[in-house]
Formats: sequence, C-alpha cells, structure tokens
Amino acid sequence: MEWEVVIGLEVHAQLATTSKIFSGAATKFGAEPNTQACAIDLGMPGVLPVLNQDVLNMAIKFALGANAEVASKSVFARKNYFYPDLPKGYQISQYELPVVQHGYVDIQLDENTSKRIRITRAHLEEDAGKSLHEDFQGSSGIDLNRAGTPLLEIVSEPDMRSAKEAVAYLKALHTLVRYLEICDGNMQEGSFRCDANVSVRPKGQKEFGTRTELKNINSFRFVERAINYEVERQINVLESGGKITQETRLYDPNKNETRAMRSKEEANDYRYFPDPDLLPVVISAEQIEKVRKDLPELPQQKHKRFMEQYNLSAYDASVLISSKEIAAYYEEAVKASGNQPKLVANWISSELLGALNKSDYEIAQSPINAAQLGKLVARIADDTISGKIAKTIFEALWNKEGEVDEIIEKRGLKQVTDTGAIEKLIDEIIAANADKVAEYRSGKDKLFGYFVGQTMKASGGKLNPQQLNDLLKKKLAG
Ligand code: ADP
Ligand code: MG
Repeated sequence: MEWEVVIGLEVHAQLATTSKIFSGAATKFGAEPNTQACAIDLGMPGVLPVLNQDVLNMAIKFALGANAEVASKSVFARKNYFYPDLPKGYQISQYELPVVQHGYVDIQLDENTSKRIRITRAHLEEDAGKSLHEDFQGSSGIDLNRAGTPLLEIVSEPDMRSAKEAVAYLKALHTLVRYLEICDGNMQEGSFRCDANVSVRPKGQKEFGTRTELKNINSFRFVERAINYEVERQINVLESGGKITQETRLYDPNKNETRAMRSKEEANDYRYFPDPDLLPVVISAEQIEKVRKDLPELPQQKHKRFMEQYNLSAYDASVLISSKEIAAYYEEAVKASGNQPKLVANWISSELLGALNKSDYEIAQSPINAAQLGKLVARIADDTISGKIAKTIFEALWNKEGEVDEIIEKRGLKQVTDTGAIEKLIDEIIAANADKVAEYRSGKDKLFGYFVGQTMKASGGKLNPQQLNDLLKKKLAG
C-alpha cells in the first residue's frame, strides 16, 4: 500500500522581551535558579498581572510578516493543570480568541518546487518553570526562572507531506522571527522549539489518519529524524493490522526513536476560562500601522529582490536570505567581486556555508570575510586564477594565510595564459602518450578528457580550462 504522510506543526517561539509577559521580572537566560521569578510569575494570592506591551507589538509584527490577520479583540484564558513547575496551578494562554489568525509562509523545496503552508493561528502565552532531574541524586529541582516568559505559539494547518517539508517550514518560520527580531531563535536554549503532529493515510484517501504528537523537539535535524521514525512506526503498525492511538510521544535523539508519553484519553481537561485579572486585548488599526511602518525588509521581500536584482534562481535566493547575516554577507561580497552575483552565490552556498557548517560556525564567526570572498571571485572572473585553484586559495584564506592577491603571489598560483608555455606542456604530454594519441586520432574521442586532465595536472591546475581545450584540440588534430 502506498501511504501519504500528513504533518502539522506547533511552534513555540520565545519572545525577545527583557521582562516577562505579565511582570517586570527579567527573562535573561542562564541565571542562577529561582532568581528571576517574582510573586506575579508564581501566582501568589492577591497579585495582579499586567500585560507587557512589547509582547503585543511582537505578535503584531509576526502577523504582518506571516501574511496573517491581527484580531481586533483577543482574550487571555486560564489553562488549568497541575505540574510541579507551575505553582499557580494554571497557565495564562489564549484559547478561543487568539491574537493572530489565518496566515501563511511559502517554502522553497528545491529549484522548481515551492509550497504555501497555512498558519491557522498564533497565540500568546506564558511559559512554565523547569523541572531539573539531573544532579539531585534521587530528587528533582524546580527552577522557576522561566515561569512567565512570553511565548508565541504558532499553529500550522496539516499542510506538510514529508519530514523535509516540515523542516523547510520550520526553517522559514525561524528565518521570519529572526528577521522581525521578536525571537533570538536559539534552539539549544529552547527559545524556538516545536511539537510535530504526524499521521499517515492510504494515498488517495480524503480523511486524515489518527495522529500522534511528538513533543518539544529542539533542532532541525531531530525534527526530521523524529518524523521519519514516527512515519515508519505508524506504517508498520497499520500494515500489520494494528491501530494508531492518538497520543503524545517523546523523541529520544540518543536512541533515535519515539516513545509514548501519555494518551489523549488520559489527557487533561484544562477547563479554560477567561482570566478575570486581565482585560480583553484590543488592538487598533493605528497600532498595527505604527508597527508596519517600522518593519524591516522581510524574508519574502528580500527573496523577491534578490531574484530580480541579482538574477538568482528561487532556490539560490532562498538559501541566501535564510538569515539577515548571510544576506548582508552576500551583498557585500557581490560588491567586492566587481558584480559577479551568480558566482558569489555559488561560492557562498557550496563552499562557504559547507565549511561553516562543518566547523559549527555561524556566519559571524567566518574566518573569511565578505570582502575577501568577493575578491576571490573577482580573481576568478578576471581570469587571474582558475576555479580549481580558487579552492586552494579559499582554504588558505580560511587558515588566515593572508589576503587573496598575497596568497596568489606567494604561492605562485596565477593562471598560465601564455600560449607558448601551454603548448610546450601539451607537447610533452603528447610525446609521453604516443599510444593514446594514436587511439584518439583513430576515433576514440572519449580520450580527450584524459589529455585535459594530464595537462592540467602537469600545470598544477593553473590553466584556463577553455584555453586549454582550444589548444589541445588543435594540437591533437595533428
Ligand atoms: P491540539 O490542541 O489537540 O494539539 P489542534 O487542533 O490545535 O489540536 O491541532 C494541533 C496540530 O495538529 C495542528 O498543527 C494541526 O495542523 C495538526 N493536525 C491536526 N490533525 C492532524 C492529522 N490528522 N495529522 C497530522 N497533523 C494534524
Ligand atoms: Mg497540540
């Protein structure tokens, strides 16, 4: 049987405010446990929460960036449940009337495929504290610093059909919240995490299958692995005649498997009701306009501009705009390259991002700056060096051996363009390979590549491929 995968994501983005959503306590990550929670965050009797206006403006920013509607009126509700890291006994969230609804983001899957993923809603809520089960020899600790930290929960429609699409959507959201500067996107610290809802159905069937929910996954790689594992598990269960139980599961990256956590049957009835301490949130058209005026260039706008201004493919542009920092690096490198936008794009997406990824560096930590990469491309474009030699220089730049021209000079890497010198090399190769030359001349055209390779090697990679081709053809013709 052929199966179709269906995925919807719930993403929690921690909003980058300096204080909490309903109190003045600090939100800084990594403080000593229980030094940043105040009476309001703990819900002590008699306290009154007050909404942090920055949080609201960030939600509006998100709505504008995600092509969504801002609700003119939204309501905070209490979601009641017991958990040791939730001393209040309830979490303030939004339920029936969320602040953001009906948006979408477009994802670029490869050269020719893009897809629109719809966003059902995004609502504001406070985070809970954290239970610490390590280092306490049999007992657990509770750190309430995170209690009351503002979150935007972004819920998608079940529009994704593979783990790859889910990751592309998650990356697009990550890009967006970082452009908007409403979330630092730090996944290791949990500022950006996701729950993946996964189901499968026989291809062609209209109704969705029963879904499971994979909780709190905090890296792109794990999202992909967790979904792929879960899809395979569900298909195995169904194909051996079993049934999928609607349940919450945990992904264990060490074992690369998902495990049942709790089933929906025993799930809490949260008894949501409007929080009596908080007024409904009313957002005026003027407030929205004020936020709109201060918006930076958004990912979708930059994507369009890069395609037009630099004549890039949709896919190349999508890689280069994936963060503001990469986009800025690209534009600076293009300037330094003497206007070689396509070549610079290739060098960034393949060589530079590959090397950074391998070393686990952000672009800000790149040992090669934009001016240097641009200069390197300029030297390929003006035929000073070949593309092959450029890779050697790239490595030297990476190892901080100096500037581009310096390295070319010092190592004698200049491309040989003197026809006489190249012909001399070719003659030597021809003389040393009399048998192959004879074969070639009797019709074995395929051998041409062999001669190209040999001559290039003899030159130390310093020939212009086009020029070499032309001269070789002439010489081999005899
Ligand atoms: P809950 O509040 O129980 O988590 P929601 O209706 O808010 O339920 O849905 C949560 C997420 O699950 C949404 O992102 C939605 O797109 C996704 N979803 C719903 N049904 C399915 C399904 N059958 N398969 C995969 N994802 C689904
Ligand atoms: Mg859910």
